[in-house]
Amino acid sequence: MELRQPSSKNQALLDAQLELWHHTLCYIKSMALKSAIDLRIADAIHDHGGTATLPQIATKIMLHQSKLPCLRRLMRVLTVTGVFSIIEHPTDGGGEHVYGLTPASSLLVSSTSMNLSPFMTLMLHSVTLSPFLCLSEWFLHELPDSTVFEMAHGQNFWEVAGHDAKYAKLFGDGMITDSSFNMDIVVKECGDVFHGISSLMDVAGGAGGASQAISKAFPHVKCIVLDLPHVVAAAPAGTDVDYIAGDMFESIPPANAVLLKWVLHDWGDAECVKILRNCKKAIPPRDAGGKVIILEMVVGAGTSESEVKHRETQVLFDLFIMFINGTERDEQGWKKIIFEAGFSDYKIIPVLGVRSIIEVYP
Ligand code: SAH
Repeated sequence: MELRQPSSKNQALLDAQLELWHHTLCYIKSMALKSAIDLRIADAIHDHGGTATLPQIATKIMLHQSKLPCLRRLMRVLTVTGVFSIIEHPTDGGGEHVYGLTPASSLLVSSTSMNLSPFMTLMLHSVTLSPFLCLSEWFLHELPDSTVFEMAHGQNFWEVAGHDAKYAKLFGDGMITDSSFNMDIVVKECGDVFHGISSLMDVAGGAGGASQAISKAFPHVKCIVLDLPHVVAAAPAGTDVDYIAGDMFESIPPANAVLLKWVLHDWGDAECVKILRNCKKAIPPRDAGGKVIILEMVVGAGTSESEVKHRETQVLFDLFIMFINGTERDEQGWKKIIFEAGFSDYKIIPVLGVRSIIEVYP
């Protein structure tokens, strides 16, 4: 190899090109992760005792021998990008790479209660991601209310989730795994949020993952999920949670407190104020313990070991949720809708990574 150092001007051009290539190829990272999830590679490594060679992974996932070199290339991307690790490198005398799980891929193992695969599967499903190919076209579109999702699929998100049973199941499963993962942390880190509450209305609570976790941790709290009729019709049976079909824009049944987990980011300010006003009508005054517990992102809040990744994930999620005309709010954005809905005060508890708990008082 002959080493040559380009002039500083050319090096700067090549660095700029690299930057563009890196951004352009980022979706390959997502697609590699999608393949790992669909092929259940984390399960294969886990079931093999936590480490596995390429042929061992291939056997577990029932991959045809002819695809082994391609699997090696997929695993190279997934190890370079930190999804899996290499425990052992082949030596000159031969041998195989031995792959292991990282903290991230440990969350893709289906037999653990911390399995996040269904959420990632939902995020990486073609119905979810294909609208982003229309994003620039949507920006130039005249109709202000039509969403990116609608432009791509001809129907809004909730209509598709209402009649496409397969996608609705993916959505429900994705949300329930997100809830059980996060609520486990919430009840351990901020159990005090639920003290003094005897009934909790989980507004737009979906399949009820959050409510199930709360009623398990605090059996004295009666949890009720309010959601659309088709969601309630598919609700799991045999839990301590009650389900009520209704429309949060119409009215919300009374309770000591209201939980809004990952609901308000789906809506614009006017809709959020409407929902929050209905929440206020459903709960007692502050001195009687009434409050709304919001679990959402507060852009700019929270600390993390990796500040850049944290900030980038928050703003990426904001652009993502724009596909249904939703928005991730910073503290100012939250303050605006909370006070406009008639509440007197709020407290942000940034304890959930990129998300926070916001307590809102009447
Ligand atoms: N809180 C749940 C679900 C969040 S997804 C969780 O975190 O897992 C948003 C939910 O809002 C979906 O379950 C959807 O069915 C529900 N939803 C949408 N419009 C609604 C309405 N008008 N009234 C009640 N629920 C609604």
